[in-house]
Amino acid sequence: MTDNFPAALERTHKALDFLAEHWQEAEVGVAMKRLREDASALEEDGFAWSKEVGLNYVLPKEALCCKPIKESKARDGLRATTAGGPAALTHPGLCVAPAPPCGFGVFATCQIKKGERLGEYTGEIRSYDVWCDEIKARKVAARGSDAASPFIWEELYCAWSGNGPRGAGVVIDAYAFGNAMRFINCSCSPSCTFKSFGTGSEDHSRLEVLATRDIAAGEQLSVDYGWYHDPATLEDIRNEAVKAYAADLADLQALVLPAAGQTETASSSKSSGYAAAETASSSEAVQVVAEAILEARGRPPLREAPPSFLCRFLDREKVARFVEVNEGAGFTKASTYVDIPDPVWHLYEVVGGLRVGVPCRCGLDPSLNKAGRCAGIIGRPLQIHHLGRGSEPD
Ligand SMILES: [Zn+2]
Repeated sequence: MTDNFPAALERTHKALDFLAEHWQEAEVGVAMKRLREDASALEEDGFAWSKEVGLNYVLPKEALCCKPIKESKARDGLRATTAGGPAALTHPGLCVAPAPPCGFGVFATCQIKKGERLGEYTGEIRSYDVWCDEIKARKVAARGSDAASPFIWEELYCAWSGNGPRGAGVVIDAYAFGNAMRFINCSCSPSCTFKSFGTGSEDHSRLEVLATRDIAAGEQLSVDYGWYHDPATLEDIRNEAVKAYAADLADLQALVLPAAGQTETASSSKSSGYAAAETASSSEAVQVVAEAILEARGRPPLREAPPSFLCRFLDREKVARFVEVNEGAGFTKASTYVDIPDPVWHLYEVVGGLRVGVPCRCGLDPSLNKAGRCAGIIGRPLQIHHLGRGSEPD
């Protein structure tokens, strides 16, 4: 079949029109419309990229950030596995398009059935220890320290693919080389999974993307990258939670209950005296706690902006009662995450995830998570909210 840029451009415009129409006034729909109306958004370069990796639609210019490869290529003395057959083609119904706030995402332009193979996750086949050393060196160069967190962009495209010939681990890194699969975003309600196949003699595999449920036309593909399940990352998240809580401690201790019927918002709390802390200059977490108390014990404040995402991780009745009963003395010092008081530990864990660089905001994007239930940290189980902090992920 012959294909040329004008034909691919027309096809891509149709797909973007469909997606813009489908998502309408949602942020994702607005972004589709904006891209559709930008005459310079889709160019020959993007067409060439798509052609190279078997992507049916033109890759937007702004998404041209890595070199296209149809098959993974080996580095670090490793050999690519040829088991499992020729390169798995990218599903013809997939389109890479804007997915705010996550940059770009992969969208279905037709219905996809559970179990369908959507493509191969291609990238550079790297020895895990060599790759880690490179990431550490980049961190030292960028900020003078090789501390694990916060994560840097360069490490977010790496997927585990086996133990490898030396047992040191092998990863497929799609940061610099990859195909459309590298654009799949994370969701707490994922529709796809990465599955290994074609394990070679060096004990590492190829990865394919499979639909784990039926996917409707218009939906964005998603996987669960599961950062929360990585013990080192979880420890970082919780250490950051403790640091964030410590930094906010004085402001939290200064919070008091509002006088009956009070309606001032948290940001005007200084003049009202409902909270001794000047919450306008406090962290977002403290403002969310102050607002929750006011909403539980005063009257809901008038909103000028949408509520903070963080307020999802707080039970306002519980936090109001906590301040009421303890009269400001409840927020005590925490040396580990278990010491963070119960009504705010979940909130601070999500802040910790943000500080580490693994926040999840899928609940804000209906194309990525229709029900909007989001755990706030990539891979964090939703049910942990109900089970309590003693429940470790399994
Ligand atoms: Zn989420």
